[in-house]
Amino acid sequence: MKLSWRTVLLWSFPILIIGFFLWQGTLANPTGVDNNRNVAASRMTYGRFLNRLEAGQITAVDFYEGGRTAIVQALEPELSDGVLRARVDLPGNMTELIGNLKEKHVSFDIHPPRPESALWGILGNLIFPVLLIGGLFLLFRRSGNAPGGPGQAMNFGKSKARFQMEAKTGVMFDDVAGIDEAKEELQEVVTFLKKPERFTAVGARIPKGVLLVGPPGTGKTLLAKAIAGESGVPFFSISGSEFVEMFVGVGASRVRDLFKKAKENAPCIIFIDEIDAVGRQRGAGIGGGNDEREQTLNQLLTEMDGFEGNTGIIIIAATNRVDVLDAALLRPGRFDRQVMVDPPDIKGRLEVLNVHARNKKLAEDIKLEVIARRTPGFTGADLANLLNEAAILTARRRKEAITMSEIDDAVDRVIAGMEGTPLVDSKSKRLIAYHELGHAIIGTLIKEHDPVQKVTLIPRGQARGLTWFAPDEDQGLISRAQLKARITGALGGRAAEDVIFGDAEVTTGAGNDLQQVTGMARQMVTRFGMSDLGPLSLEGQQSEVFLGRDLMTRSEYSDEIASQIDAQVRVIVEACYQDACRIVQENRGVIDRLVDLLIEKETIDGDEFRQIVAEYAEVPEKERYVPQL
Ligand code: ADP
Ligand code: ZN
Repeated sequence: MKLSWRTVLLWSFPILIIGFFLWQGTLANPTGVDNNRNVAASRMTYGRFLNRLEAGQITAVDFYEGGRTAIVQALEPELSDGVLRARVDLPGNMTELIGNLKEKHVSFDIHPPRPESALWGILGNLIFPVLLIGGLFLLFRRSGNAPGGPGQAMNFGKSKARFQMEAKTGVMFDDVAGIDEAKEELQEVVTFLKKPERFTAVGARIPKGVLLVGPPGTGKTLLAKAIAGESGVPFFSISGSEFVEMFVGVGASRVRDLFKKAKENAPCIIFIDEIDAVGRQRGAGIGGGNDEREQTLNQLLTEMDGFEGNTGIIIIAATNRVDVLDAALLRPGRFDRQVMVDPPDIKGRLEVLNVHARNKKLAEDIKLEVIARRTPGFTGADLANLLNEAAILTARRRKEAITMSEIDDAVDRVIAGMEGTPLVDSKSKRLIAYHELGHAIIGTLIKEHDPVQKVTLIPRGQARGLTWFAPDEDQGLISRAQLKARITGALGGRAAEDVIFGDAEVTTGAGNDLQQVTGMARQMVTRFGMSDLGPLSLEGQQSEVFLGRDLMTRSEYSDEIASQIDAQVRVIVEACYQDACRIVQENRGVIDRLVDLLIEKETIDGDEFRQIVAEYAEVPEKERYVPQL
């Protein structure tokens, strides 16, 4: 169990409540009325008491509880000693009653709480805080025994570090595939950890920090674990976001704890995921800096400088964005090595698939090469996820082994989300069919566009219909003609709605398409110099606004240029839209036929689609890069 202050607060509530009830219920009865052993067993109502008082039968009254109850003695000839003792609950106003008693010369007395009940009272008041403290103490003790490390939790100024430690990761380099360059560079780190003498003997300084740079899911964590696994050293890990807490100082103390533990366990690996969460440029936040983050970062820098290079601690950090990191982190002696971890190419994908197919049952017909070809842009995590989804589908379909049909469905699912149920035939289904065929026909007839893989009316994720294109493996450089083809293709949906149903009937279905279109056109103007503004870079890499730094450097151009950019974007999109509408109009005949077919079959695959289109128009041959495997 991990103990944080939140847990303590959570637990102290029930304890508080239990304590309160105990206090109220059993211990806090300081009156002593019931303890009066004057055998006040019988009770008398107030009315009857008054009657007896009037009749002159009451001989004595003893008040308790500040006048709320009284033990009265009444003459009762029938009883052996001739006196009845009874308890009366008084409705209030003891003074009036006392006046009455005096008048009738009845003896009375007022009893303060008895000393022993006063003691009970004090105990009663004490028991509640004692229980609370005792409960908290037990909790702390329990957490002290947890693997997080004994005694830490009693340390109030220090937060319990939320790092994990794995004595043995069990991951080896063999489990990491498709990122060979990164593996090779890190092989050296394994040697540092295993045979430091080799380096220290010749006076080499062992690096302290390695920065793994790459998009999520490419295997950075896996790689760091593999280094620990290969070297046989413990693996400490924490995520940058865990450092950044609400309370100032907590992050810094976590860093301190982490390094303390690591030093005790050296040689070891410290892995810091998402280091950009703490390592952002200082003073870059909107509205001034973030004290907590800066303190944490400073502490991290201090710790990194604080140990000698050869203590055997190697810090591996992962990020997708080196550009936002504080320069101090990248200085020599800190994260001075950077290793790129890119999404795998086709060969890499095949290797990753091989690794993850080890423990899966695949049907004979499955060729991992085919899957690798179909999945450009997939990361290692996507591929692992793909095979897992396929295995789940196989189990659900009660098959013995994964076949190509499960793989196909899993690919679609990983890319576009869960499959929904198709619409029944209706006007909006026809509209969606025309929209998708607009994309598909333009994609087919423009030479530079990726070829259609399939068109479907089966909804997935957010999309109500989908046109799949087969991306080219070689995604290196993109030409202006390709960009224009993509923009035109993306506008195809709206163009078809417009041409076929008319201006007033166009729908919101093109929202997503238009967003992409605008993005692409804008980049053509501002980043790639593909407009009349000439070969100028007017904007850096598009990045989120929340980084204050970007806000400050954003306007590299004047307002006048800004409006020129807008105008150029409009020119590009306008021209592409004209083109899209023209293509739809010119091919109205085949589109109408394809719509009927699509509504009937729900899905048309690329080859069939091209065959039908070829009966009406000339389908250009597409240049494809087919890598060797
Ligand atoms: P990152 O840290 O880069 O976001 P992870 O290392 O957490 O990515 O990857 C998540 C999972 O995806 C891994 O546990 C592994 O199953 C799979 N995976 C990712 N990359 C690879 C790879 N290169 N080789 C094998 N499996 C991978
Ligand atoms: Zn669309």
